Amino acid sequence: MTKFYSSLSEIKSGLQNGKTTVEGLVKNYLSQIEINAGLNAFNEVFDKEALQRAIDIDQRLKQGVAGRLAGMVIAIKDNICYKGHKVSASSKILTGFQSVFSSTVVERLLAEDAIIIGRCNCDEFAMGAANETSYFGPVKNYADPTKVSGGSSGGSAVAVQANMCHAAIGTDTGGSVRQPASFCGLIGLKPTYGHVSRHGLIAYASSFDQAGTITRSVEDAALLLEIMAGADEYDSTTSNKAVPAYATDLKKPTDKKKIAYLQESLSSPAVDDEVKNTLINSIEKLRAAGHTVTPIAFEYLDYLVPAYYILVMAEASSNLARFDGVHYGYRSKAATDLASTYKKSRSEGFGKEVKRRIMMGTFVLSAGYYDAYYAKAQKVRRLIQEKTDKIFEEYDFMLMPTAPEPAFDIGRKVTDPVVNYLADIFTVQASLSGTPAISLPAGNNTNGLPLGLQLLTKHFGEQELLNFSKYFLEL
Ligand code: GLN
Repeated sequence: MTKFYSSLSEIKSGLQNGKTTVEGLVKNYLSQIEINAGLNAFNEVFDKEALQRAIDIDQRLKQGVAGRLAGMVIAIKDNICYKGHKVSASSKILTGFQSVFSSTVVERLLAEDAIIIGRCNCDEFAMGAANETSYFGPVKNYADPTKVSGGSSGGSAVAVQANMCHAAIGTDTGGSVRQPASFCGLIGLKPTYGHVSRHGLIAYASSFDQAGTITRSVEDAALLLEIMAGADEYDSTTSNKAVPAYATDLKKPTDKKKIAYLQESLSSPAVDDEVKNTLINSIEKLRAAGHTVTPIAFEYLDYLVPAYYILVMAEASSNLARFDGVHYGYRSKAATDLASTYKKSRSEGFGKEVKRRIMMGTFVLSAGYYDAYYAKAQKVRRLIQEKTDKIFEEYDFMLMPTAPEPAFDIGRKVTDPVVNYLADIFTVQASLSGTPAISLPAGNNTNGLPLGLQLLTKHFGEQELLNFSKYFLEL
């Protein structure tokens, strides 16, 4: 029977007492990948390379020179560049494209001897919340393959869920790490905006995008963040703040906390009853343990999703202008001159959802509508940021569901974009305000589908967030 581990520290003791080797671990993951190929979690598996690296790392461990992530086998979302490897953002338009440099996150993980086992399926250009916009088809949830994985980092989440790797790196623009983590019963961490370099991530909406982790333990999330975070000369939006020793300093808090929850998360008919009950149970447990848990009204709740979508679409329409059939990947065979190269390559290369967003983004930025949409959404974002900061002057954390309902049937929502967008209601507040947020597994519903609860805290409050998460999970 293959043994899989819930944290790197368990793996490390397995390696130390000779119960396993890194090569053995990689072989196990590769066989799980083969068995679960039908889940469609990977766009490509780096099997030979991962095995060779495992053999090298076993050697380095013997010599006592291995890095802090020796034994950690990671999958990356297929919008994160890894030099010499293909990267597609799950889009036809990047057909055949290879990364010419590695993202800073990949560099930092490799420098600590992590192994990257493959690149994972995701929504096309990370646009979606069900992994159904991928050019390579949807990812199936391991808990029930008729259900979506969540998105946009759906492949990354299912890769961890089905033990096809130990941990995964995704990107989170408006919930794409947290929501699939919740649909798959895992821990999804979105760091503070600017804490982790975006260099080498294929941009969706640059003022929102952050790399995040999908793990089985808070310890692993802390260690990965510690290694990935920090200033980067290639991304001027990274903060110069020193990175705390998140993993070493991970300890359960002993003081009593003040926690706010949105009253609408319990009163809204759009939130599933079992999700509400999970939240109620957690609130009761926290109160019984002596914490103060208070319902609050967030006056801008109705503006969260519209402001988010106006801004990300505007940024996407600009970011995706570079995919023109000339510089990267796919070029239409029907192109005859420059204009038709642009037009036909983009028309054939982008999927429907991506085109919708480019068109809407172009519209909200157009001269006649800029003030009415884009400029107004920027103002609303500022109000949301200020109000969120105010909440954290008074409370240590906000607690809310990660998603209004558990994983739904594949194909159910894909036809109605508005329904899809509204399901991001709980994840976009942290994205608009730039605060860190974590989705934590909160048991299964009566159909055996995982549920998740989310904690938010103030900017750069990751240590407290991780500490409290560890405590919360064991409460
Ligand atoms: N569902 C959201 C969107 O489509 C979030 C996606 C993401 O975080 N990449 O924009």
